Amino acid sequence: MSSSPKSVVITGANRGIGLTIVRELIKDKNIHHLIATARDVEKAEDLKSINDSRLHILPLDVVCDKSIDTFVAKVAEIVGSDGLNLLVNNAGAAFEYRTKIEPNRATLAKQFDVNTISLVILTQKFLPLLRKSASKVSGDKLSISRSAVIQISSGLASVSQNNYGSDLIPMLAYSMSKTAVNQFNKTFSIDVKDDHILSVSFAPGWIKTDLGGPNAPLTLEEAVPVLVSSFYKLDNSHHGGYYQRDLTPTPY
Ligand code: NDP
Repeated sequence: MSSSPKSVVITGANRGIGLTIVRELIKDKNIHHLIATARDVEKAEDLKSINDSRLHILPLDVVCDKSIDTFVAKVAEIVGSDGLNLLVNNAGAAFEYRTKIEPNRATLAKQFDVNTISLVILTQKFLPLLRKSASKVSGDKLSISRSAVIQISSGLASVSQNNYGSDLIPMLAYSMSKTAVNQFNKTFSIDVKDDHILSVSFAPGWIKTDLGGPNAPLTLEEAVPVLVSSFYKLDNSHHGGYYQRDLTPTPY
């Protein structure tokens, strides 16, 4: 079990899984800064109702480079010379797409932009702050208390478990975008091994949210505490891996 990160960033935290991750992590009194993002902070009522001075609510639209730059600079001010310990890449969207429809470049591009390209760019922009926190600790041990990036991927990202096709589950573009997230996770984990930044992908499970829909079998209260407790268990053996919320390995 790892000790607590001092600072955490969670993207897309005004509703759904992101908001519930914030609600779980705020219980950890050893976290100094919980930085939660919303595209529209004004309307992020649920997030703002969490009354805790350690919670910083900042605007971020992940598809906008200017918004990312402003956000990263603000996080740098908050965390100071400690750097950032944990980035949770949660923000995402799902647009329907099937093989047997009119080809639509705009939908495919939009899906990859929000779920994949933005996640890669945001993570790259956080590298200096992640390296800073990692460098405070000596040795090779990886953990969320040192320096880590967690990708909220999806079970639909698994190529080897895809036996349904897009007639049954019309999420072709979404699945592809999350498979690409897993590829990034693996490559990134190799690239930053010497920087001692942990990188892991999670499939949180099919959860009732605006994105997951009302037919999902899991509630946020059932799934997210399990997911968050897995964050604390991550170590070198998980680096570059893809896991279910309870840390069962998921086949790529
Ligand atoms: P929700 O639709 O409830 O929440 C999505 C969050 O992402 C919102 O906060 C939303 O902000 C934010 N977001 C969307 N687009 C952007 C953007 N351009 N910039 C910044 N933030 C953005 O979905 P979930 O909570 O269900 O999903 C969270 C993550 O979990 C996603 O990555 C999703 O793919 C993944 N996931 C979800 C599953 C499920 O069953 N629910 C299953 C597997 C994975 P806003 O309110 O402004 O739109």
